[in-house]
Amino acid sequence: MGVYLYPRLPFLLSPSRPRPVDLSVVIPIYNEEANLGPLYERLCGVLDPMALPGGYELIFINDGSHDGSLALIRQLAARDERVRFVDFSRNFGHQIAVTAGLDRARGEAVAIIDADLQDPPELLPALHQKLREGYEVVYARRRSRQGESVAKKLTAKLFSRLLASITNISIPVDTGDFRVISRKVVAALRQMPEQSKFIRGQISWIGYRQTYLEYDRAERASGTTGYTYRKMFRLALDGITAFSDVPLKAATVSGFVVSGIAFLVMLYTLYARFISHDYQPGWASLMISILFLGGVQLIAVGIIGEYISRLSANARQRPLYIVSEEK
Ligand code: UDP
Ligand code: MG
Repeated sequence: MGVYLYPRLPFLLSPSRPRPVDLSVVIPIYNEEANLGPLYERLCGVLDPMALPGGYELIFINDGSHDGSLALIRQLAARDERVRFVDFSRNFGHQIAVTAGLDRARGEAVAIIDADLQDPPELLPALHQKLREGYEVVYARRRSRQGESVAKKLTAKLFSRLLASITNISIPVDTGDFRVISRKVVAALRQMPEQSKFIRGQISWIGYRQTYLEYDRAERASGTTGYTYRKMFRLALDGITAFSDVPLKAATVSGFVVSGIAFLVMLYTLYARFISHDYQPGWASLMISILFLGGVQLIAVGIIGEYISRLSANARQRPLYIVSEEK
């Protein structure tokens, strides 16, 4: 009976069990030394006035930075007990860094935010307020984006629409990982052990009541993007393969279509050879069909390979990341 009356009692009794806080903020860090100071100031400037009764914590995940980020994070952690951090043994990627933060978050609510101040910390109170209105996920949708190349904006826009159209869950368009989620959603995420993480897709898959607020995405405050086109392409493939079988089906369908065409061409060839006797030694058509068939086959094999490589990564069951130091 007592357990039901005092759900927090066990935490008060055992000092080894950390006390839950109201809000955890998860911040992945890859070469952000110039942004860390301003980010910390702005986060405190926004979170302190919220006067959360249970307090908040900031969890920095150093994803193998090779600048001074780790030293700065250590300093912050030494002088502020609300700051916790994880230092990875190498660069594991943004999605894995966020996952490590979620694994450690003690908050009733958890915010995910980029370190480069492209996601304004000032939006956090509004996101958190919406969560308290009874939602489990409140994501921030980009009304506009500044200071990013046309190519980046275009690929991001195309990708989010492509993904929305080929998956059977509704992944919101123009949305990154900037959001506030509830304890329940974190618990559900921690039950999803897949190796290729696409967190915004997983959160859509989980369901519950979700809503969004709009914001204008600022320019990166300082430094350069850690998302190379290669990493973006990987993330896109992870998102598609984890949430859609449409490419596999498209490979099958294109196989049927091409075989159908080949069959018609074969009929025509037989007709020309034996009935109308109107044929010429035609290497052009031969070349075209060989190249075309070869192309279609390679694409199909490649698509299958993308799925198989993820299957094998999951079969290996390696840990998602290796921690070198944490507080
Ligand atoms: N990041 C990371 N690991 C990486 C690349 C990026 O932890 O391999 C972090 C980065 O420090 C930032 C967030 O992920 O906090 C978003 O990255 P970035 O701003 O470089 O991406 P963009 O906004 O250009 O898409
Ligand atoms: Mg950025």
